[in-house]
Amino acid sequence: MQSRITLVTGAGRGIGRAIAVAIAASGARVAITARSSDQLASTANEIEAAGGKVLLISDDLADRQAPERIVQKVREYWGPIEVLINNAGIGSSIDPRPLPEFDDSIWDLTLAVNVTAPYLLTKCVLTDMLRASWGRIINISSVNSQVPALHGVAYTVSKHALAGLTRSTAKDVGDKGITCNAICPGVTATEMNDRRLVYDSRRLNTSVAQLETQASPLGRRVQPDEISPLAVLLASDEARAINGQLINVCGGLVYG
Ligand code: NDP
Repeated sequence: MQSRITLVTGAGRGIGRAIAVAIAASGARVAITARSSDQLASTANEIEAAGGKVLLISDDLADRQAPERIVQKVREYWGPIEVLINNAGIGSSIDPRPLPEFDDSIWDLTLAVNVTAPYLLTKCVLTDMLRASWGRIINISSVNSQVPALHGVAYTVSKHALAGLTRSTAKDVGDKGITCNAICPGVTATEMNDRRLVYDSRRLNTSVAQLETQASPLGRRVQPDEISPLAVLLASDEARAINGQLINVCGGLVYG
């Protein structure tokens, strides 16, 4: 990764944190963003303790002006972003409901953070990537880009849309030294999924522990640090021919 300038959104906890730590360990400079500055500080401590270089930017990606603000801050501090990892997301666990009862404000918020923010960030970084004739964009989608999440219409639609953004980006700029791919995690042990398992355990009248064993053919949930190695690979020069792909890391939960 040399010292590639990388932005990882939603890096305060969960999958984004694991990716930021792994990317920094590979030698890249990593800008990390989320709303909670205390969680960002915790991620930054881990990166710095391992000798990595990190920049913290606290912002809210539901704000349409945030992507431009964030990209500009990284540009001023280090220079143009070379690797963008769109990880921040709102899960179906925020307020799961069947479609007829779905809350329209949750629909708007989910699409703003999960789709519009990655789209705007992609546009912002592409200006510099096109100038450099090199770039890597990695979108953290979900197996719900392929199969629906029950009582999670906004989440399912957002992850299908992120798959479309991935393929569109790959097609539009693939001949310019820039690749765009999506990692599609399955059921992964994070705060987001903890809340979803609590909802499902109540709905199905079973225990969270029981649901965990059914989370994949592995008999368990995926761990965030089992997703980050693929992000490091996709961000590397060696991955130059991998473009426009949705790659599942789900322990065999779905077959795409
Ligand atoms: P977490 O809820 O644990 O972490 C989400 C991260 O995104 C946090 O750092 C959070 O920080 C940030 N974030 C959320 N909303 C905003 C916002 N409005 N502005 C800026 N940052 C925001 O989730 P996971 O680690 O589980 O999920 C990471 C990605 O992986 C998501 O895109 C998710 O959809 C995807 N995924 C997760 C799966 C799972 O089972 N866990 C399965 C498939 C996909 P803060 O709240 O401080 O802003």
